Amino acid sequence: MKFADLGLSDELLKAVSDAGYEEPTAIQAEAIPTVLMMRDLIGIAQTGTGKTASFVLPMIDVLANGRRRALMPRSLILEPTRELAAQVAENFEKYGANHDLKMALLIGGVQMGDQIKALNDGVDVLIATPGRLMDLFERGKILLNGCDLLVIDEADRMLDMGFIPDIEFICEKLPTPRQTLLFSATMPGPIANLAKKFLSNPKRIEVSRAASTNDNITAFKIPVKTREKRETLRWLLRNDLVETAIIFANRKTTVREVNKSLQSHGFASGEIHGDMDQSSRIAELNRFKSGEINILVASDVAARGLDVKGVSHVFNFDTPWHPDDYVHRIGRTGRAGNLGRAFTFVSDEDAEAMANVEKLTGNPVAVFGKKDVRVELPKAKAKAEPKAQAKAEPEQQREAEPAEEEAPRKARRERPERKASEERKPREDRPARQRDRQDDEPVPAGEWNGPQPSFLGVSAI
Ligand code: AMP
Repeated sequence: MKFADLGLSDELLKAVSDAGYEEPTAIQAEAIPTVLMMRDLIGIAQTGTGKTASFVLPMIDVLANGRRRALMPRSLILEPTRELAAQVAENFEKYGANHDLKMALLIGGVQMGDQIKALNDGVDVLIATPGRLMDLFERGKILLNGCDLLVIDEADRMLDMGFIPDIEFICEKLPTPRQTLLFSATMPGPIANLAKKFLSNPKRIEVSRAASTNDNITAFKIPVKTREKRETLRWLLRNDLVETAIIFANRKTTVREVNKSLQSHGFASGEIHGDMDQSSRIAELNRFKSGEINILVASDVAARGLDVKGVSHVFNFDTPWHPDDYVHRIGRTGRAGNLGRAFTFVSDEDAEAMANVEKLTGNPVAVFGKKDVRVELPKAKAKAEPKAQAKAEPEQQREAEPAEEEAPRKARRERPERKASEERKPREDRPARQRDRQDDEPVPAGEWNGPQPSFLGVSAI
């Protein structure tokens, strides 16, 4: 299947080839013609499958003809978090480079003035988080009755964040008939009900049931005592061929503490959580994207849907309380054909949450053991769609993105120096120091001949 077979305009085909994409992903191949036919759509797809382009690309062609009017956006994309909204906006800019479309981003945490001005000038695409949209709507700064194309993205996350009543309210203010596209990684009851209520005869496209079935992600759980989590994390960061990692924690305080602790051990880490203002969050994210830091400690809300290329590892410092978050967290790696590894720490306090994760995904997560240490990432399986995304990002495209690929290497090069300074510091965990020195010896991928940390000897929980 080629992009040219999907019915997109020549301008978009050019934008797609400029982006370096060779072939549509599974969701794109199915969703793009459906959206161009103006049908409603339910897309069950996790992030990393190319789902953003699956609605942004055809929307650009659908909106190409038509007139903007003040205060009345022609289309609306709802996103659960500011970061995701900003990311979709970036996609619009990238793919819409050859079109004359105006876009506005309505997100909390930034000045409202510019947003209101953009609305007054008239926009074709409004990308918003529900909170800020409701706010402006209630102040009479926005009219929704000209908006006949709606996208509800990451619907299951909207549910987790309590946005469903807002979404129902917004849907009721939009005109009928209209075209509605709903995307969700999972389909819990309330989302199915929302779809039933607000979509009309939708086409249903499912590209992958759960992230755990994504063949590009190797996932493990590690039974560990709460007080040993930090040490275990450091050990894995040093011994599992980590290039770039996102570490998730359930609480903001843990995010801060883990980041501080990693920095004090010489790692190039940063943090992102809901207590930070928007500009600091973006700045931190940019440091991560540029490779200045190669480890980002994050809370769920802040990291939702982050699209950072080449994240080799995800660590769940805590097992997430909501099993859906597990799917989203580990979906930060193994994106668009790349390979990734995901580790979830399971202390006694996490055991119930892990049981819920395994119930949701229908798969027990393998316990990390000695045989799994330092394995070279296996090659992506070029399997038939929908599950395999191996085709989505061929080698040529990876080569075409030196800026993103360069970054992790830069951060890696700095590591030996940090390790040296770390050994000078007094440390609470002396046994780990012993290991640090041995870790400096090169160990061939696929085998481990160093000392064995206690967690490797723990049996399955
Ligand atoms: P998403 O699922 O929308 O978060 O997209 C995940 C990643 O896949 C993004 O980095 C996109 O730039 C990339 N991507 C989207 N479509 C394609 C494609 N057809 N080929 C290669 N990469 C793609």
